Amino acid sequence: MFNMGAEPAPKIYGRDKHGIVRSSISHGALKVCEILRSHNYSAYIVGGAVRDLLLGVVPKDFDVATDAHPEEIHRLFRRSHLIGRRFKLVHVLFGPETVEVSTFRAGEGGEADEHGRLLRDNVYGTRVQDAARRDFTANALYYDPHDETVLDYHGGFADVRRKTMRIIGDASLRFREDPVRMLRAVRFAAKLGFTIDPKTRAPIRELADLMENVPAARLFEEMLKLLLSGHSAACLAKLRKEGLHHGLLPLLDVVVEQPQGERFLRLALDQTDTRIQTGKSVSPAFLFAALLWHEVQAAWKINESKDMRSIPALYLAMDQVLDAQTDKLSIPRRLTTTMKEIWALQPRLEQRSGKRALVLLTHPRFRAGYDFMLLRAESGEVPMELANWWTRFQDAELEERNAMLIPDAAPRKRARRRRKSKPGDPQAPPLDEPGN
Ligand code: ATP
Ligand code: MG
Repeated sequence: MFNMGAEPAPKIYGRDKHGIVRSSISHGALKVCEILRSHNYSAYIVGGAVRDLLLGVVPKDFDVATDAHPEEIHRLFRRSHLIGRRFKLVHVLFGPETVEVSTFRAGEGGEADEHGRLLRDNVYGTRVQDAARRDFTANALYYDPHDETVLDYHGGFADVRRKTMRIIGDASLRFREDPVRMLRAVRFAAKLGFTIDPKTRAPIRELADLMENVPAARLFEEMLKLLLSGHSAACLAKLRKEGLHHGLLPLLDVVVEQPQGERFLRLALDQTDTRIQTGKSVSPAFLFAALLWHEVQAAWKINESKDMRSIPALYLAMDQVLDAQTDKLSIPRRLTTTMKEIWALQPRLEQRSGKRALVLLTHPRFRAGYDFMLLRAESGEVPMELANWWTRFQDAELEERNAMLIPDAAPRKRARRRRKSKPGDPQAPPLDEPGN
């Protein structure tokens, strides 16, 4: 009598229940769904976008899930690319917008490592399977733009309403499959002001070490999402609370005990969050430079105490800190180069002798280095007067700038003479330091 073998039916919410209006959905996502549908495929807006629309938050981007296979999708859209080698996604371009289109997948059937971590997730599946392989109930809602319904297999609709992050299935098993989901739980909870359901939260502390098995590049990507969520301060506080920060960014272990480090970090994170929330761009290199600055300073001091000259001690410290990071959360080279430049500018900005100051203004990273020094000044690490001097100096007209330089002219000569007798004097770093 019961239709036992049939796929479970989703709960269906109409527009009167979900309140999502079509005009809040991107043109590109609507077009992708419409075209797929006109070729007899099913197509839904899925994931974070549906969750955000239900919450009245503007989605970052729109993902589409469909039963069409990647090559079929690619054929339908002239401006599209196949992405990925093993499991293919399609990026469809509409003007400046990119819609990510993926084929329904089954979470099972992939290979796993000894801890249960899924190494591959590349088996196509049905819509029901696709819903079950997603991480949280709130992320597993399917919006059909054609009839304007939301399909819900796992109670995500109610969870969004009661602001709960709940894993789909058994928490321990799902976190073992992919430990990054623990980070994601924290990010979504902090960003959306959700609580993590107690059963979802329970195994996190115990499984935190599994994060070590996640490829360092993947960890970096998820960490970047977290830091650029517009709620980085809240996210990091929560990571610490859940015991997830060990091994990710070692500095998070110590900042609590170091009030000055804490203040610097807090300022950096708050500034980042404000910029993101007001639609301004943020430089990941600047952010990671700030996150690791305390470590660099500590290593710098140790190196100096071993009788190294100041600048070489700083360069060694930068490499030591970045090398130690690489195994945990590998920061791409394109960022580390800039991070080093920002760090290396710090002692140089503390010098104000005339000619050097002028040269620094033309340094390609001057602006980032200066912004970084402002944070240091605000946290009490360098005198505010130094920061103010640079603020005035860079905006000054030529005449005023020259006037500002005059008092420095005499000491500069002395400094130069001294350098001759004692090369590498920490007070007088050479202008052509490596990496600049
Ligand atoms: P954001 O607003 O940050 O983009 P999102 O929920 O859209 O949030 P994405 O990383 O863009 O997050 O992923 C899109 C969707 O893919 C998620 O909503 C979820 O359904 C699924 N997903 C992503 N990562 C995982 C994962 N590690 N495990 C299971 N499902 C995942
Ligand atoms: Mg998304």
